[in-house]
Amino acid sequence: MIIKELTKHFGTITAVDMVSFSIDTPQMVGVIGPSGAGKSTMLRMINRLTEASQGSIQVNGREILDLKGNEKRRWQRDCAMIFQQFNLVPRLDVVTNVLLGRLNGHSTLKSLFSVFGKVLVEDALAALERLGIADQALQRAETLSGGQQQRVAIARALMQKPKMVLADEPIASLDPLSAEKVMSSLREIRDRDRLTVICNLHTLDTARTYCDRVIGMHKGRIVFDDEPSKLTPDVVRDVYGAEQELNESVTSTAITKQGAEIDQALAEVRMAS
Ligand code: ADP
Repeated sequence: MIIKELTKHFGTITAVDMVSFSIDTPQMVGVIGPSGAGKSTMLRMINRLTEASQGSIQVNGREILDLKGNEKRRWQRDCAMIFQQFNLVPRLDVVTNVLLGRLNGHSTLKSLFSVFGKVLVEDALAALERLGIADQALQRAETLSGGQQQRVAIARALMQKPKMVLADEPIASLDPLSAEKVMSSLREIRDRDRLTVICNLHTLDTARTYCDRVIGMHKGRIVFDDEPSKLTPDVVRDVYGAEQELNESVTSTAITKQGAEIDQALAEVRMAS
């Protein structure tokens, strides 16, 4: 995927500003940056949930921003999206929620009746098994914990047989243990299925632990794009800036030496602002 000069204006606000990067081989990419940096808008433009104002996204020689109708829907299925709030149907049982992944893009009554065959249900159960939540298959989605619901959402994404997974703050509303399980599941998609996973994250240590590459955004622009080991305190200052209201959740519980240095850098930024 080659992204060039991707830009989004909302009225007078430029949410994403001339963003360019490419991904050649399957990677787990963490996108970090303060609230309002444009992370979510960027992911949504890749998935075509938000129309870009300008720029280009090329995949295998095709211009994604020009896709219409069925081709656009096929692309949206190819890059499965995972949201902070899971976006499950709360009153439906877990396995039906997962099956809905296969309907994405052509949800007609005809497809509902014809698609739910035995094979598909077995596929859905296998996806739940893989995510460690097969025992909950027949429970209503709303009865599951947040972490379990997010894993249902990942199983649903896998049912789409995606070529890429986009995750918009997938762990922002989860407790640390659930967050770890969700991140491990996403990492496993990268390792076992050899798919690119692009994940908006709000903690640095999560990016460092799970990602091969980190993109740092600030005011709509990419200010860092490298491997996590290059996330020095100076870089963190560039990404989060001095105007951001910083708190410990940005670094979370990083106990590494570098984590401590970054904590220090954040404290300095806070004092300066
Ligand atoms: P992030 O995900 O990094 O928090 P967003 O992509 O959500 O950032 O937002 C980037 C900027 O675009 C913010 O200033 C936000 O208020 C603005 N924005 C996002 N979505 C919309 C929208 N639908 N209408 C107007 N402004 C928006």
